[in-house]
This record gives sequence, C-alpha cells and structure tokens, in this order.
Amino acid sequence: MTEEVVVARFGELWLKGRNRTDFERRLAKNCREALADISEVRIERANAHLIFRPATRVHDVAQRLTEVFGFTSISLARVVAPEPEAIAAMASTVLDEALEARPRGTVIPFRVQSRRGDKRFPMTSAELDRFVADRAMKPHRERLAVELTRPELTLGVQVNTDKALVFADRMPGAGGLPAGSIGRAVCLLSGGIDSPVAAWLAMKRGCEVSFAAFHSYPFIGESYQAKVRRVVRRLARFQPRSLLHEVPFAEVQTAVRDHCPASYRTVLYRRMMQRIAGRIATEARAGALVTGDSLGQVASQTLENLACIGSASPVPVLRPLIAFDKEETIRIARSIGTYDVSIEPEPDCCTVFQPKHPILRGSLAVCEDAETSIDVEGLVEAALEGTKTKRIRPGVGLS
Ligand code: ATP
Ligand code: MG
Repeated sequence: MTEEVVVARFGELWLKGRNRTDFERRLAKNCREALADISEVRIERANAHLIFRPATRVHDVAQRLTEVFGFTSISLARVVAPEPEAIAAMASTVLDEALEARPRGTVIPFRVQSRRGDKRFPMTSAELDRFVADRAMKPHRERLAVELTRPELTLGVQVNTDKALVFADRMPGAGGLPAGSIGRAVCLLSGGIDSPVAAWLAMKRGCEVSFAAFHSYPFIGESYQAKVRRVVRRLARFQPRSLLHEVPFAEVQTAVRDHCPASYRTVLYRRMMQRIAGRIATEARAGALVTGDSLGQVASQTLENLACIGSASPVPVLRPLIAFDKEETIRIARSIGTYDVSIEPEPDCCTVFQPKHPILRGSLAVCEDAETSIDVEGLVEAALEGTKTKRIRPGVGLS
C-alpha cells in the first residue's frame, strides 16, 4: 500500500490574517517537540490541517498528536494522486481494512465525506462522495447502509492540490490553542489535585506555563518536592518547555506565625505566594498567575478570601477551576495522568502551623495591617534568592 501519514486538523477560528501563520508555525514547532522521542517527521502545511510524514511509528505519532493542543481531530490517512479513479481505488482498500477490523453480522451505517481544498477538482464534493461510495461499497453491500446524518463509519476524502488523503478514522484532538501562542503564565503548583488541572487548562488555552511550587523544608521533608517534580513531569508533555521554580517558604511561614493573627495565617501565606510568584512572572515576562482555586471549596476560597489573596498579585490571576465541582476536576486529573501522583499522601506546606479556626471572610484592611508587622519586601527577596529553578522533562518515572 502507499505511504501512511497523519492528518491533524485545526479549528477554523484562528485562520485569519497574520495570526494564521504564527498559529501554524507554533503548532508545527510544538508537534516536532512532542514527537522528538518517537520519530523524525516531515510536516506539510495544508488548508486547515497539517500533514505529518513520519519516518517510522506512524501509529504512535498519531496517538501522540491527540495530546497536542490546537487540533480538533487526527486521522491516519493514505496518500494518492488527486484524481477520482485513484481516490476511489484507495478508498476501496481503506474501507476493506476498516471492515476487517469490525465484527461481522451487523449492518453498519456508513457514508463517504469529501472535502476539496482545491476547487479545480473536476467533481463537486457531493459528486465525489457518490462516486467513491459506489465503488468502495460494492463488495460490502450486505454490511453497509448509507446513512448521511449519523454514520457509524465515515470514509473521509481530503482533496488537496498535489495529493488526496483517504482515511477511515478520526480520533478527537485535544482542542484548544497551541501552547505558548497566547503568552506565558506562572502556575502556583501545590501537591494537590486541583492546581495541575488548572495548569493544564491554561496550557490548553495557549499559555506556556511555568510552575512556582512553595515548600516548607525543613518543616516538611524533601519528599514533598519530589512529589511536585513528578507532577510537573506528567504535565511537561503538554508543552515544549517546562520550568519549575522551587521556592523556600518556611521563613515566610515562621514570620507570619510569630507576628500575625492566627486565623489569618492561610490567607497571609497565600498573599505572600502571590507576591513571590508575581515577581517570578514579571521577571519571566509572564502575563498572569494561574491557581487551582475553586469557589467555596475550602476556607481560603470564599469570595472575600479570594479577593484578599488576589489583590496581592501584581499581575492578573487566572482561576480556570473557579466553577468546577471536584468530580469534574478529578475526571480531568485522571485523563491527563496527574491524579495518581496528586493523591500520594504527602503533607502540604499550608498544613504548617495551621490555625484551628481559619478566617472565612477575611478583610483586606486586616491583612494589610497584619503585614506591617512583618518585613514583606525582605521576605519576598529572601524567598526569590533561595528559589531553585530547573527545567523538567516529560516522563512518568519516579524522580
Ligand atoms: P490544590 O489541589 O491545587 O492544592 P486546593 O483545592 O487544595 O488546591 P488550596 O490548598 O486552598 O486549594 O490552594 C489553592 C491554590 O493555591 C492551589 O490550587 C494552588 O494554586 C495554590 N497553592 C496552594 N499551596 C501551594 C503551594 N505549596 N505551592 C504553590 N501553590 C500553592
Ligand atoms: Mg491544596
């Protein structure tokens, strides 16, 4: 049979003007990065899709591309000359193969769906649909019934200027926009379930996300940081480059414990996190922070406390999970592979010196007054000074 390639389609939304070239270029670059450990690929740009010609492992390449943001669907496809006869012949072969993989004995609702990227093709799409269906269905009349609105099996034909592509399957793409096409953001990443999902959603909408993880060493052991690194390794496969900033936070917590009202500890910790992560963002020319907050989930996530916390950030705070129920978050966490790491039992830094009765409806005036008792600037500087930044590569292993 002829060469097998992968077709990955993007939504039409972005296909306007100058954006389009940037979008496609970024997407191709992200794909190359994502496929680096699988195969060399040649990437061709066509109308509303990219065509991948891998040197090897075409199935693995297709599978991998379902995780790259920016595509609506992915297909394995065969390449032929853009001529009706050649297309119909190839369609027969592709259909034979598709049917071989399916159980016999039931009638499968079926259609052919053609798209012409080059309107000079001698048939309309509807004519080509019929022409191809006639030929390809012939040996399989008893197994197939034409069904235009709800087919179970669709044979796709994409006619471009220099070639036509024929395919029988469409895997859903990850959707969203190419990671990095919108800009940079810094995610406050904890050991919990929520913030990795928030980071993934920000990547999905085109952010290149780096991670700020606060740890309370020596109050909390180094295994906490190892866990957070494992989470980042899981997330790293969704974007080309992942930086992790490990920020020492014990000194801040001690100062807050010693000088501020106990009920405000968590809110004040969070305000300090926003300031420090905000500085990291500004230095990295990142336009926003991302957190895993969900409205009302815990005491620090009331409207009042979110307001107190958010107001300490020098850049906008994105909260992709704000309206999510926990089950929705868990569903995504499972599907992106962070859940099983997140649930490993490991104390979080916020459990350090946790008060019995945390404030539910904090006041900004009280926060600001409490902060006059600590050296906010000095603590921020010291935390930044002690921050260790590393690049994390994708993986599922232990370290
Ligand atoms: P998560 O599951 O992400 O920990 P959560 O529902 O447990 O979220 P909180 O513990 O109140 O909520 O944290 C709210 C948000 O604050 C987190 O989603 C995260 O963005 C940030 N955050 C909390 N602790 C840390 C930490 N140690 N380092 C970095 N960010 C943190
Ligand atoms: Mg948490």
